Amino acid sequence: MPTLFSRIIAREIPADIVYEDEHVVAFRDIDPKAPVHILIVPRQEIAGVAELPDSGDHQHLLNAARRIAEQEGLVDGYRLVINQGPGAGQTVDHLHMHLLGGRPLGWPPG
Ligand code: AMP
Repeated sequence: MPTLFSRIIAREIPADIVYEDEHVVAFRDIDPKAPVHILIVPRQEIAGVAELPDSGDHQHLLNAARRIAEQEGLVDGYRLVINQGPGAGQTVDHLHMHLLGGRPLGWPPG
């Protein structure tokens, strides 16, 4: 079974896609936690950080994040988050990086 995010990448499920390249696809989170809340997803199906192979599409997540942050005009800063496992709130078992910005972001996160 393809993951929810693979179905978005395949355009089987609609999403507001803001960026894509040969390695990653990024779209707006359906339940945003900040004015800008984008999910950056490797095309390769990797369940999470705990299952990370040595190399693959996930190596391009950070560069995509930098490009998208510039595209979104996040000059004041932004936060990148990966939730690993249920204890950290991971709900979709397809590796994804949250890009959050557009408001002050408290530290430490909850
Ligand atoms: P996580 O809890 O770290 O696994 O993040 C999963 C994220 O996916 C949550 O922030 C959800 O709001 C988001 N999400 C779930 N379904 C969709 C969808 N169909 N389109 C966009 N974002 C989604």
